[in-house]
Amino acid sequence: MGVVVAVLGAVVLLIVIMTVVGRARGYDYGRESVMRCSRGHLFTELLIPGVSFRAVRLGVARYERCPVGRHWALCRPQRRSDLSPDEIAEAEAHRTSRLP
Ligand SMILES: [Zn+2]
Repeated sequence: MGVVVAVLGAVVLLIVIMTVVGRARGYDYGRESVMRCSRGHLFTELLIPGVSFRAVRLGVARYERCPVGRHWALCRPQRRSDLSPDEIAEAEAHRTSRLP
């Protein structure tokens, strides 16, 4: 029992650290993040580091289904500060499910 609590605590701590580090680098970890697929489509999804039920994680990039082009693609989180208001509006028009 004590071991389980220790492991869960370590996992939660790791997710918190990755969220803080990701946010410090300008990414929207732990909230709706703008993603761009390898074909250039923009959409948003809930991004939680280390947690994903829908995507195959490859470091920062994730291999997942693009909701815009309805195809599988390598998708990367985008910094909102790097995007124009038009690009952010386009991304927010294509929101994926709440499931990470
Ligand atoms: Zn796409």
